[in-house]
This record gives sequence, C-alpha cells and structure tokens, in this order.
Amino acid sequence: MLTSKAFPTFEGRLLLSGDLVTEAAEDFGHLSHQKPIALLQPASSEDVSKLIRFASENQLPVTARGQGHSMGGQALTAGGVVIDTRSLSKIRSLDPDGVWAEVGLTWSALNKQTLLKGLVVPALTDHSRLSIGGVLSVGGISGQAFRFGAQVDTVEALEVVTSQGEIIRCSQQQEQELFVSCLGGLGQFAIITAAKLMLVDAPERVRTYEALYPSPEIFLALQMQLCHEGYFDYVAGLAVPSPAGGWGFLVQASKFYRREHPPNNHICAEMLYPKPVELTLHDRSLTEFLDRGDEQERELKEAGLWGVPHPWLVQFCPRSNSLECLTALASAFKPADIGNGVIALYPLLSKPTQASFLCLPNSKECFLIGVLSNVLSPTQERTAKLVEQKRVLFAKGQALGTKLYPVGLLPQRGEWAEHYGERWMLFQERKKRFDPLGILGTNLKIE
Ligand SMILES: Cc1cc2nc3c(=O)[nH]c(=O)nc-3n(C[C@H](O)[C@H](O)[C@H](O)COP(=O)(O)OP(=O)(O)OC[C@H]3O[C@@H](n4cnc5c(N)ncnc54)[C@H](O)[C@@H]3O)c2cc1C
Repeated sequence: MLTSKAFPTFEGRLLLSGDLVTEAAEDFGHLSHQKPIALLQPASSEDVSKLIRFASENQLPVTARGQGHSMGGQALTAGGVVIDTRSLSKIRSLDPDGVWAEVGLTWSALNKQTLLKGLVVPALTDHSRLSIGGVLSVGGISGQAFRFGAQVDTVEALEVVTSQGEIIRCSQQQEQELFVSCLGGLGQFAIITAAKLMLVDAPERVRTYEALYPSPEIFLALQMQLCHEGYFDYVAGLAVPSPAGGWGFLVQASKFYRREHPPNNHICAEMLYPKPVELTLHDRSLTEFLDRGDEQERELKEAGLWGVPHPWLVQFCPRSNSLECLTALASAFKPADIGNGVIALYPLLSKPTQASFLCLPNSKECFLIGVLSNVLSPTQERTAKLVEQKRVLFAKGQALGTKLYPVGLLPQRGEWAEHYGERWMLFQERKKRFDPLGILGTNLKIE
C-alpha cells in the first residue's frame, strides 16, 4: 500500500483519506462506488505532470475529475489516483480573441469573468456548473448546437499533460492528432489542464418561448424547422409530464437580444406553428438564462432527487428514426417510472465535428435524446431494473442507428468497438500512441 511518503511532493494537496476522497468514490449517477487510493488537488499543470510521471513509473491508474457529474463511473477509479481539477481554476488571459482558462473552472464561473468584458462562449450546456474539462471530454451539447456544433467545436487550443508527463499545447495547427483526440476523448489520451475557447459578443437578455404540443411528430418537426429558419438562437425541447397523464412535448425557442431591440412576440408566436395548446414566455437576463440549471438543481434538491441514483440514457438519434425512437422511449417510461424526470431533446444539424471520437449518427440531421431519470426511494433492485430496461432500449436504439452520448449509461466491455464503429481502429491506434501504459481513465473499460 502506498503512503504519502511514496508520492513526490506537490505544490497542491495530496489526500489519502477524508471527505474529498470519499466523495470521489461516487458520481452524480450513484450507480457504483469505487474508492481511489489518493486524490490530488493540483496547484498547477506541473503538479499534474509530476503525478503522471509517478503514476507511469508505478503503473497506477489516473483519472481526471471535474464536478463528478457523470453518471456511469467515468470519473471514478478503484485503486488509482483521482486528479481533482477544481483547484485548476485560473483565467490565464481574456480578450475578444478568446479566453485561456484552466479546466477546473465551471462554465458558470467562466461566464462571470467573460461577461465583465461583454463576451460569452458561443454554446453552453443547460447546467452551467459542470467543469470545462469534464464537458470538453464528452462533447457539450446544447440548444445552440444546431448553430455552433458541440462545445468541443468552439475550442481553439488545449494545454494537456500527456501520459509521459509532458506539458504541451495542441491545436489544429500543432500536435493536431492529440488535440482532436482529447476533445470528446473521455479522458483517455491526456489530462487537459487549460483550454482556449472562442468568445462572441454577449447579448443582454434572452426571451424564451415554450410551446406545448400533444404530438411528438409536430414537436420534432418544429424543432428542426426552427433550426433551419435560424431566427431563434437556442432551440431545444422536453417531453414533460402532461396533466392529462403521459407526456406532453414542449418546444423551447429562445431569442437573444439587446434591450433596444426586443423580439416581436407576435412574430415569434407565428413561427411556433401549428398553434400550440399552451404558449408561455420567460424573459430573463443573460446570466439568469445561463444559470437556469441552478433553479432545476434547487428543485431537485428540495424534492430529494439530487442525491439519488440517476441512470440516464442519452443517445444521438438520426432524424429519420427520431419519431420511432422518441415514441419507444415515451411509451416504455411513464413520467412516474423515471421519478418525475424528463426526456430532453436537442436538434443538431450536420456539422463536421473536430473531435475525432465524438460519435454522431451518419445523418444530416439528428437529435440528442436523453431520458433523465431519478430513482425514487432507491433500492438496489429498483435501480438495477431501470438500468436493465435502459440497456434493452439502448440495444433497440442501436438498431435504429442511434449512438450513445457517453455521459450516462456506457457501452460495456466488448461493446466499444461497435460504439466507435469505423473509428475503432483509429481509437486503438491513438490510445496506444498517447497512453501506451493504459493508465488513463481505466474505469471506462474501453475494450
Ligand atoms: C444536471 C446535469 C445536466 C447536464 N446537462 C448537460 C447538457 O445540457 N449538455 C451536455 O452535453 N451534457 C450535460 N450533462 C452531462 C455533462 O456534460 C457530463 O457528464 C460532463 O462530463 C460533466 O462534467 P464534470 O465536470 O462533472 O465531469 P466529470 O464527471 O468530473 O468527468 C467526466 C469525464 O471527463 C473526464 N475529465 C474530466 N476532466 C478532465 C480533464 N481535465 N482532462 C481529461 N479528462 C477529463 C473524466 O475523467 C470523465 O471521464 C449534464 C449532466 C448533469 C448531471
């Protein structure tokens, strides 16, 4: 057993026990428990480098962890070391050309700094208290994805620590293969320590129109139509519990604006056609809009649903099969079966992603469909049943051309080749090249 004396000395903190080590044994999914032997809160990229060199000499698994909001054990390691990136939280430079930020910062904290200069990143996940590194390691899909692609597509450069402990910068112009592997790379190729992100002028306010439809067909068609029309800046949707029982389908379309040019409600309502059964409007400051996930987090906490198991199934589905896929999910689960959770949908238009291993369906248009479940009064049996049901639906989804978005339920050992499809050989080749000892992100069991 390793003692702290065996480790090198760090400028940051190395912990072998205590609350942070215990917390790092679980994630937001609460589906598995795996205790690391140590946790490093690095003070700098040099600390990360020292740890990686030590880990490779000792064949120790290393996993980066941001906010631990994964749901399938992605950021856990049994018997390895967790790098808690939250201590890497500096902004290194910020101007209209972009922001160099350390990756332990949450997007919410980043926004606070960029907004002081009237700037904001172009696309953001619904929950802004996720770490930059955690989101860039999976993709980052939002209601702005139809315009900007995934968040990984708004990254201009990265600073990473390789599995040999080297600190290097990479981009499309420099160390290109490492760059495109780390984006959406599930922590398999290097530890990301900082990222240069695009910025755009920040609007002042956001007006969101929520249009409720009983028909999933109209709902899906309207979301895509709004993306193609391009008038709204944010387009997403939810299947929500309907007062009549079953699901209702809510299109969410937001317009960003400056005070002097507010959107015309009449024109916006006309774009939400056919006429919805209900139309509501929320007008918020940009900050309120970006941090709207806080309100959902508060509601889940108040309802006792934040700390329970979350077996989420999140898949990209080609447009051609999206109705079949959504209908299958909506009929498999009544709202009560998923603990009053929702089914979230984001439309995407075909944009080539720069992330080598972000797997999207081979389709010009697709939807991200996430069944966001909470297990009420959890027992092992109830949780296992829901996970099993989702595995069955995932297998059915694959037959419809869906691809998993690996934030929740993951492919199991032996299923990754199918997940990566024609990129599987490339994945294996890059893994061998960038992490020859196989010490990074071992809990995903990518075989
Ligand atoms: C409430 C909630 C809302 C969400 N909303 C959205 C959404 O709107 N859109 C969306 O796309 N996703 C969404 N997600 C999923 C979320 O984007 C991912 O789970 C994301 O990875 C979580 O970030 P994190 O900081 O918690 O990462 P963690 O869970 O800590 O880590 C995730 C993965 O990234 C790796 N990793 C983390 N940091 C680094 C690093 N610095 N270098 C290398 N690898 C690293 C980890 O090893 C792990 O494999 C949501 C999740 C939750 C719980």
